[in-house]
Amino acid sequence: MDFLPIFLDIREQPCLVVGGGEVAARKCALLLRAGARVTIQAPALGRAFDADLAAARIAHRASSFHDEDAAGYALVIAATNDDAVNRAVAVAARARHIPVNVVDQPALCSFIMPSIVERAPLIVAVSSGGASPVLARLLRARLESLVPAGYGRLAELAAAFRDRVKARFKPAERRRFWERALQGPIAELVFSGRDEEARKALQETLGDTRLAFSGGEVSLVGAGPGDPDLLTFRALRLMQQADVVVYDRLVSQPVLNLVRLEAERIYAGKERAKHALPQEDINHLLVRLAREGKRVVRLKGGDPFIFGRGGEEIDTLAAEGIPFQVVPGITAAAGCASYAGIPLTHRDYAQSVVFVTGHMQDGTMNLNWRSLAQPRQTVVFYMGLVGIEVLCRELTAHGLPAATPAALIQQGTTPQQRVLTGTLESLPAIVRESGVKAPTLIIIGEVVRLRERLKWFEPAA
Ligand code: SAH
Repeated sequence: MDFLPIFLDIREQPCLVVGGGEVAARKCALLLRAGARVTIQAPALGRAFDADLAAARIAHRASSFHDEDAAGYALVIAATNDDAVNRAVAVAARARHIPVNVVDQPALCSFIMPSIVERAPLIVAVSSGGASPVLARLLRARLESLVPAGYGRLAELAAAFRDRVKARFKPAERRRFWERALQGPIAELVFSGRDEEARKALQETLGDTRLAFSGGEVSLVGAGPGDPDLLTFRALRLMQQADVVVYDRLVSQPVLNLVRLEAERIYAGKERAKHALPQEDINHLLVRLAREGKRVVRLKGGDPFIFGRGGEEIDTLAAEGIPFQVVPGITAAAGCASYAGIPLTHRDYAQSVVFVTGHMQDGTMNLNWRSLAQPRQTVVFYMGLVGIEVLCRELTAHGLPAATPAALIQQGTTPQQRVLTGTLESLPAIVRESGVKAPTLIIIGEVVRLRERLKWFEPAA
């Protein structure tokens, strides 16, 4: 992070804008909106200032800038089209430790101005750290369309009730109360301009104990195969509302970075034959955390119901009467296949796809090999790396040609993604020689050939 984002209180503070043109006028208007006492310095002012001058909202100092002119201000903006003047303003302000912004010259700035989405008192500020103001503005435009116009009034309503809610609820309950009030029917009332009804409804819910319930809940959330862009909206929302997150080894760091900062994080990772927490303990941990009244997110790689033991975890929750929900995620097969340019089905090559666990128990894999070794079918092995010899041997023995194309995808969808291709015959040697390691997905079938044609989709690592 190159800049610290902060919101500055400049109400009634003396601020100086140097420059008399359009840009200076815009900066001036912004400072006025934030309640500053603005002085504009320029030998002459453009028409854009007429109204503010007439209304005495700004003071005009009709002179060229000199070093000592910066003294005494809380904030200075240089907006002239003269580089030397802009530089002089920056030097003068910096020497006095006054925050200074020089329009369009990040190198001279001690602070930069973000693009803003204004729903006062609610403000969204977007900055590219000076790297690309256009990009920041594009993002701002998208946010504009995303944030309902009534958000400001909603924030005002919340402010009006803040003390009452604070007196009524404990902190955890309070947050839950607000989260429900601010995204449910009450918010919709405000968005449609029915503020008074919203106010009444909020008053009523203060007396409604159902909203203030103290019981926790568990969400089993699929975190996808690694790329945080592949999270669902619901996953993200729950991650950002969680009190505690219990996560697996497969959940990537960039995904974890999206969890609410204050949430407690508990690692329950699993590695082959080295379980950080036995499954039994995880199940009971979830129950205990929920009983403490917490919003628990059980974050699992891929999809919780595909080789994720999600079924066992909710079994315990159901038996113990804990409210829960399951949020699907993109499973490794779907993510890795897309990112490696291998369609799992294809009219000409595969009419079906099977997901199989290649996990070995007692050195064997108890699978229906005959049904797996079918023509025109794609077979995807999860956890198949250790058993690669066995699975290639068995598939060949049950009728698949040794020349059947196969792919290994390590850490699919992440910047570390690695794709190796070969055949059923060559795969074991490739695994031995390449040092490929878990998590790796194995895709077997004619569709792997398509990668040669389609791999330009692969994101640059
Ligand atoms: N529930 C998960 C699967 C858990 S089993 C899902 O739906 O994806 C763990 C196995 O998934 C790993 O051994 C590996 O075979 C596969 N896997 C998970 N994430 C992967 C990734 N990013 N790249 C390659 N394989 C992955």
